[in-house]
Amino acid sequence: MAVELSFSKEIANMMYATHGNPITNCLQCGTCSGTCPAAEFMDHTPRVMIGMIGADLKDEVLASNTYWTCASCYHCTVRCPAGIDIADMMYALKRYSMWKSRYKEDLIGPDFSEGFVKMIVNSGKSFEPILATTYLPKFSASQLVQEALTATGLVLKGKMPLLPKKIKRLKNFQRMVKRIIPLGGSS
Ligand code: SF4
Ligand code: SF4
Repeated sequence: MAVELSFSKEIANMMYATHGNPITNCLQCGTCSGTCPAAEFMDHTPRVMIGMIGADLKDEVLASNTYWTCASCYHCTVRCPAGIDIADMMYALKRYSMWKSRYKEDLIGPDFSEGFVKMIVNSGKSFEPILATTYLPKFSASQLVQEALTATGLVLKGKMPLLPKKIKRLKNFQRMVKRIIPLGGSS
């Protein structure tokens, strides 16, 4: 009979490859939250998020914007006195959220992540003008103008191509990627 894992165990399993200690080692000292440059934009600070996972508050965690707001700067991971890779935990939560198709409404992150992975798998390269279609609809008119000016400047300086390109030996790359991550529906 299959054993149903707790939410905290599922997240622990998704972090199996990380080099940090398990989140059960958390001292709740708050160093991660105090050092996080994105904490003020998060529904829950990193310290609180770890406590919520430990308490198996799955619905609350999946309704939080915290891990989609994480900037992956690794300040928390470097400073944690318990040696926990908190940044990797944020990635694990993103993967779990996408796997379960459950995330807070109106977030750019899930659509952006899905679009980015599909683009990389299909071409081997990132192409900003297509990626931008996932987040530009959320911008105000003035932000759109600013983005257009920035993009024009990048194109004029040769920093952004006008047409998407593909890497050489794309089939080899796709075979390699499909062996290491489940891509369900991305091609
Ligand atoms: S810095 Fe480490 S030990 Fe302290 S609250 Fe954050 S995760 Fe827990
Ligand atoms: S990696 Fe994420 S959670 Fe950690 S300090 Fe940076 S932004 Fe905050």
